Amino acid sequence: MAKIVVIGAGFAGHTAALYLGDKLGKKHTVTMINRHDSFAYIPSWIWVGVGHMKPEKTTFKLAPVYKRMNVYFVHGMATKVYPDEGQQFVEVDKANGDSVRVEYDYLLVATGPKLNFAGTPGLGPDQGENTYSVCSLPHVIQTRDKYLEYVERMKKGEKVKMVIGTGHPSATCQGAAFEFIVNVHKDLVKKGVREQAELLWLSNEQALGDFGVRGIQAKYKGELTSSEEFISAVFKDHDIKWQVQTGVKSVDEKKIYWENFEGEMGETDYDFAMLIPQFLGQPIQYIGKDKADVSDKVVNKGGFVIVDGIYGLPYDELEANPDAWPAQYQNPNYKNIFAAGIAFAPPGPISRPHTTPNGTSITAAPPRTGMVSGIIGRIVALNIIDLVRHGRMTHSERMTEMVAACIASMGDSLWDGNAAVMVIHPVVPDMRRYPNEGGRDLFTTHMEMGLGGAWMKRMLHDTFIWKLRGLPGWKIIPE
Ligand SMILES: Cc1cc2nc3c(=O)[nH]c(=O)nc-3n(C[C@H](O)[C@H](O)[C@H](O)COP(=O)(O)OP(=O)(O)OC[C@H]3O[C@@H](n4cnc5c(N)ncnc54)[C@H](O)[C@@H]3O)c2cc1C
Repeated sequence: MAKIVVIGAGFAGHTAALYLGDKLGKKHTVTMINRHDSFAYIPSWIWVGVGHMKPEKTTFKLAPVYKRMNVYFVHGMATKVYPDEGQQFVEVDKANGDSVRVEYDYLLVATGPKLNFAGTPGLGPDQGENTYSVCSLPHVIQTRDKYLEYVERMKKGEKVKMVIGTGHPSATCQGAAFEFIVNVHKDLVKKGVREQAELLWLSNEQALGDFGVRGIQAKYKGELTSSEEFISAVFKDHDIKWQVQTGVKSVDEKKIYWENFEGEMGETDYDFAMLIPQFLGQPIQYIGKDKADVSDKVVNKGGFVIVDGIYGLPYDELEANPDAWPAQYQNPNYKNIFAAGIAFAPPGPISRPHTTPNGTSITAAPPRTGMVSGIIGRIVALNIIDLVRHGRMTHSERMTEMVAACIASMGDSLWDGNAAVMVIHPVVPDMRRYPNEGGRDLFTTHMEMGLGGAWMKRMLHDTFIWKLRGLPGWKIIPE
């Protein structure tokens, strides 16, 4: 009987656990270790942040789902992994105060990001409550409360400057910040106070609409257009100012201090700011047989799990080699350890890196969105199922092959809401297959905007929560 352990019940790990429980759970032992006892449907937090959705609408309890899906659930924090043969187990600090060891034959690390606010002095709710975040449920609730406080002040005639974007030179997740700024705009219009607010987009992207994926070239209304043109048209229409090519270095209660691509240092004053922090890997220690720390065999310096990618290539070589991106998300040193979602280490950035004359790297890190994370979670689960049943893996999907769709909410109303629907194929440009099209298939890569997108985004909330609860038909709903 095989023992399979998943750490982290986000899009990646939870998707994997559903497949593993469904296929192996009755004959083998599948265990999920998760810090929280609920799944969080993160994409809808944008609506929580502007007070349009109750936080509890975005979560559901994991235990009943796992009971139905034949998955053991350990509610706790994985702190250490002992990966050497003969003693492979995970040490967990359980939520009830106990410590347990969970043995494994196969381990999937799907722990998502550690939100590294400390990487930017003064940033975030825990460093003086200067700036806010939408990256965890308690943070987004705090953001909502502060934002609504400012709305009240605007109703009394106060002018407010809101700065939204990224809070570190190598931050990722620009898509979430984009959704937040546009939803803030819509909400302020609805509340009749838009005139009172100045909205500024501040980001480390090399160009507007880059999103850490080197931007998108696609057909829009029959014309070839770029995400830069697309997003700048939206921002102009919404009177949102923007400043890109900017790495935030520190923050205090009044100002955001930054450096730009040219190496110039500057500061921006603000009243309210939502800035995404740097993401690192979650700090789990890997300990060998002789009690030595073997973490460097499993994770890179950022704490992301090393898998079957080609690491250390100069950017131009990485750009030219789609096979440098991992296919099976398997650690090369411990073949029974896999990683999925934000937890795996990409071989490098997707957008061209930039170093300023002062030596600061201002480079958007590659996003691993919910859909990408779910797909990778499924691929890893199917390979573990293969290994348990037949001893060999048959599934693979690189981000240079993967199609991903992203529906960016631009107002949640089903009457006058809006959303930008972006389908990109592949997620990471493949210059070998599509050399003349910027690395992407122009037939499938697509951008669209309109009320229909707002309906789709709302429907996805219910459809995905249905799928992720493992309710009838869950497998036919794609990630
Ligand atoms: C506001 C917002 C909106 C977004 N909107 C979209 C969208 O519309 N579409 C989209 O595709 N993507 C969206 N994203 C991105 C998406 O949410 C992430 O890409 C996705 O959550 C990554 O999944 P993951 O499984 O890798 O990590 P996570 O979802 O972060 O899950 C990791 C899990 O592991 C647990 N964990 C961590 N460490 C440990 C430990 N040591 N022991 C036990 N458990 C642990 C965590 O508690 C968590 O439950 C959005 C992100 C944000 C912040």
